[in-house]
Amino acid sequence: VRDLSREWHAGYLGVSAADGLAELRTARPAVPDTGTVAADRPGAPRIRFEDVRFTYPDTARPAVDGVTFTADAGRTTAIVGPSGAGKSTLLALLLRQWDPDGGRVTLDGVDHTAHTLESLRRGVAVVSQDTYLFHATIADNLRLARPGATDDELRRAARAAGIHDEIAALPDGYATRVGERGTTLSGGQRQRLALARALLADAPVLVLDEATSAVDERREAQIVRALLRAARGRTCLVVAHRLASVRDADRIVVLDGGRVDAIGTHATLTAQSGVYARLVAAGHTQEEAA
Ligand code: ADP
Ligand code: MG
Repeated sequence: VRDLSREWHAGYLGVSAADGLAELRTARPAVPDTGTVAADRPGAPRIRFEDVRFTYPDTARPAVDGVTFTADAGRTTAIVGPSGAGKSTLLALLLRQWDPDGGRVTLDGVDHTAHTLESLRRGVAVVSQDTYLFHATIADNLRLARPGATDDELRRAARAAGIHDEIAALPDGYATRVGERGTTLSGGQRQRLALARALLADAPVLVLDEATSAVDERREAQIVRALLRAARGRTCLVVAHRLASVRDADRIVVLDGGRVDAIGTHATLTAQSGVYARLVAAGHTQEEAA
């Protein structure tokens, strides 16, 4: 676990199972790693997207088309919008899985390409929809994020992610083996383990990309709230597919077709953004159906 953890920085915490570990270890950056500034410094950064444009190779339409917004230091910024709006692409640009064709991303005013890739990604803990668990104990899977974490720290992170009680109820508790051929966890449990792992990483930036899609809506809102409380002081970017969990965000950026439709809070957007109002209405319909 310790060896892995050295090679497997926080930016990959939410990496898709399909990517496979072998590929991770040999993955070469697709972007030039010419930055020289270590991104580690005290405090959570202010993240700014400035007129960012990006078109995927061999596609006709830009996925992100002139996006500008600021995620304040130590605050929670939600990114919402219909499927295909460009939300995940923005996160990929933050992590430099791709570089923009125009505009830039800055951390505390510094172009993020000035940072070494390794330090940039180490500073960002990501949880996405797919989570990879190694065939190891739950404790080991959590310690991947921070090998030196105490049992108490593991429990605290697991509590904040709403998974502690279920782990404690297993016959072997945190020593339960999971992952391939291990005890089968539900999709929701895997996601919450990944959230606990991201909290433990103690990175100054926390990114959740539809990280709780496998749990029901009420549970999702509870988990996201608890998690953001535990992550207080970090700069959090939350892409949530249901709005209940992002209502309390300090700032909500509404994306549509690769562009910013509106920026505000839940209260201001409900009145000002047709796209937001439609997302809210769609959420209500889903709730009623459920
Ligand atoms: P969201 O996360 O808001 O659902 P995405 O950022 O995933 O949206 O996608 C934005 C647009 O970019 C969509 O039109 C999508 O089809 C396209 N896209 C996403 N990933 C890729 C990719 N790897 N290659 C080509 N097009 C992509
Ligand atoms: Mg997405």
